[in-house]
Amino acid sequence: MSLSFLDQMMFPLRCGHMVVLGRLNNASSWICESCRTVAELTASADCEWLSKEFDSAYQCDAIARERGALVARADEWQAGVRERRLSEVTSP
Ligand SMILES: [Zn+2]
Repeated sequence: MSLSFLDQMMFPLRCGHMVVLGRLNNASSWICESCRTVAELTASADCEWLSKEFDSAYQCDAIARERGALVARADEWQAGVRERRLSEVTSP
């Protein structure tokens, strides 16, 4: 099982801080947790860049799946899906 690239890749905000890419999914703006600067993600340049970052994360996940990896998002990961799937594999 591997963690989705959405939850591994970091996106640099304009204020200079980083945020995990997956947390920006479907967000139109983001308040930086470090300095409280509001980033408008729908602003043209950032929006274009962000969608490219999402594309490459999805592609990396697709490649991992083709190689037989179970790709999970961070919330699934933390919910202990790993243990459940491992027990499914080992049970008859
Ligand atoms: Zn910041």
